[in-house]
Amino acid sequence: MTVMAVSISEICENTKLAREMALMGNYESANVYYQGVIQQIHRLLLTIADPTRKGKWQSVQRQINQEFEHVKAMMNTLQLFKVDSHPDKPVGFSLARFEEPTRDPQLCYGAASHDPDVWPPPPPREDVNWPLPTSAEHKSIPHVKPLRSLQKKDTKPAARNQRSTNSNATINSRRVVDSKQTKKQEDRTKQTKRPDEKKEEKEKADKEKEDEPEEEEKRFEGSGYDRDLIDMLERDIVQKNPNIHWDDIADLHEAKRLLEEAVVLPMWMPDFFKGIRRPWKGVLMVGPPGTGKTMLAKAVATECCTTFFNVSSSTLTSKYRGESEKLVRLLFEMARFYAPSTIFIDEIDSLCSRRGSESEHEASRRVKSELLVQMDGISSNSEDPGKIVMVLAATNFPWDIDEALRRRLEKRIYIPLPNSDGREALLRINLREVKLDPDVDLKEVAARLKGYSGADITNVCRDASMMSMRRKIAGLRPDQIKQLPKEELDLPVSVLDFEEALAKCNKSVSKEDLEKYEKWMNEYGST
Ligand code: ADP
Repeated sequence: MTVMAVSISEICENTKLAREMALMGNYESANVYYQGVIQQIHRLLLTIADPTRKGKWQSVQRQINQEFEHVKAMMNTLQLFKVDSHPDKPVGFSLARFEEPTRDPQLCYGAASHDPDVWPPPPPREDVNWPLPTSAEHKSIPHVKPLRSLQKKDTKPAARNQRSTNSNATINSRRVVDSKQTKKQEDRTKQTKRPDEKKEEKEKADKEKEDEPEEEEKRFEGSGYDRDLIDMLERDIVQKNPNIHWDDIADLHEAKRLLEEAVVLPMWMPDFFKGIRRPWKGVLMVGPPGTGKTMLAKAVATECCTTFFNVSSSTLTSKYRGESEKLVRLLFEMARFYAPSTIFIDEIDSLCSRRGSESEHEASRRVKSELLVQMDGISSNSEDPGKIVMVLAATNFPWDIDEALRRRLEKRIYIPLPNSDGREALLRINLREVKLDPDVDLKEVAARLKGYSGADITNVCRDASMMSMRRKIAGLRPDQIKQLPKEELDLPVSVLDFEEALAKCNKSVSKEDLEKYEKWMNEYGST
């Protein structure tokens, strides 16, 4: 993925606009500008090597994030007071409603991507040149309302709204005018109202909101299925916001690019991805354990704003035994309903051990057959090609997967152990919250970690960051430990800490294993 140059003056200008909009009470627009600025700073940070400069920009990033959180909190509060607009009411009284967060892939993806060309379109302002999508582009974007029942699980309002690039992208100038006029009206009314009147009004508004028909809620009913089974799936398998971003994953640029291409482009250009160009039925991620396959699947769902169904094969065959095939059917039906969706099947090998092999249970054979049927069904959803359901599978044992399934997992990509740059990037990601002794050279540490998986490296970092604390508390009684001041425990991680951690943590993947993966990929890989 190429990182495009970011102009600092653009960042300043957009920050100014974001603040201006926020100060004017035009929170919807401020929201869009803040998102843009955050992305630009993020992209800029990717290009800065000097730690001092980077640190300064990171502190700017934190500040902008804080401001953005305030704006979002303000929008949330305002939303509590809003009532539905009605065509018969005069403009001044029709309060523009903030729509719920959407999984509109273009907007959402744009908000998280590194490319300014795919920013969510801002409110129309003649003096700003933004890359507005054409109406054709707008039309092609599938718009899916979120699962309200699942949203409730998100406890933090900020987190809930983080991805809500929402309707801002489609607000028109009329709405901007409306909301400004409404704000003035609100302010005027607020000044003349007594507190008890205000309270009454709020109660009335709350009541109206309760009585309001929940027309926006799009809830899967699944006739013919047991409600308990549906609830179980929603509770255990649908993950609303996996909250893993591309940046949380070190290295693996090629895998990220491929996944974006496999999932995002067909959603943006459904008309193009037809016939011979139809989207892949499934993508198989192959590689040693702990290399980030699960993280990649979660990032696809987060960054591409697809509904994420996270299911491991062992769950399918054990926990729901007896109901397994039904569950697979329901899983796909639900995924189609909430499309665009990503179904992530971890440890797919355990479900698909070679057909006819001794280890093959009757139950898993049936589940596997159902899975094959469902995957075939994915590609024939020709009525609405934008409603993509993508199967992403992961395995540490690709050689155990039978041919029928392998054929359906058309893209087979290798997720390798991190190379030296990847190891260094992973060290930085893992250690971003702890202090580092200036003597620590992460390049050198990365060199010492050759052959370690991502998960091994994370373990080394965790261990190293706790070493000084372990030394401090050695031999102390619990009451003495409790009295230790925080500063004494929170010491920078030193070279010695890394030495000790490295001596304790061994690599988990052998050379022979790696050779096996390479051999399999040479034979069956398709990247
Ligand atoms: P896999 O699914 O390949 O077995 P996971 O995605 O579950 O591996 O990763 C296990 C852990 O290892 C993660 O929680 C993370 O801490 C760490 N990890 C592995 N690879 C990476 C990576 N490329 N970037 C960041 N963290 C990683």
